[in-house]
Amino acid sequence: MSRASDLITQVDEVVRRRRVDKRRGRKRNLVKLTFRSLAQSTQSIRPQQNAKGRTEFVSVNPVPRNKQLIFKMTTTAMTPGRGAYNQTLIFHKIDFNDRLADKYPLKVSTKDGSFVYAGKLSGAETPVSVRCNCEDFYYMWWYHDNQKKALAGPKMKPYVRKTPPPPEGYPYRNPGEVPGVCKHCIGAFEDLIKKRLLTR
Ligand SMILES: [Zn+2]
Repeated sequence: MSRASDLITQVDEVVRRRRVDKRRGRKRNLVKLTFRSLAQSTQSIRPQQNAKGRTEFVSVNPVPRNKQLIFKMTTTAMTPGRGAYNQTLIFHKIDFNDRLADKYPLKVSTKDGSFVYAGKLSGAETPVSVRCNCEDFYYMWWYHDNQKKALAGPKMKPYVRKTPPPPEGYPYRNPGEVPGVCKHCIGAFEDLIKKRLLTR
């Protein structure tokens, strides 16, 4: 009798765990854009990006249960007095390991003072989501990035147009509704490439 109930309990657990895995898998699979596809998409409507300033790390946070590696960075404008903007780059589908190995070349410190080792970050293949608190990211990119599941963090406050639609008012900022990134996020990615943490 006790055996039967044990069996039932086990089966329930297996089914439940599978469901959770499936749900997590679906959520992760939604993130499809990469650094390369975001950069190409940006370039398709903005061939030139101006100088972006100086990028620094704020934090690097591994989240093995979500298979994420989260970079928080800040970019200080080249022009004095223009302040700083904050970027978040989340790399998805990252595998972690307790030890250094060929497949896990990135040593990342954890909050408890130890280390984990993360798989490679590929600009062409690793799915990524992004965020910046600059005006350009707000007006041009966050909405369309979110549509493609490439916005890091919660939705931003919707932008309400105060002028009539074109041709009377100003033209739409992103009429092709393409996802992309501001110059600060490009700078943050380029900084990771320069530090040999990300391949192009
Ligand atoms: Zn920005």
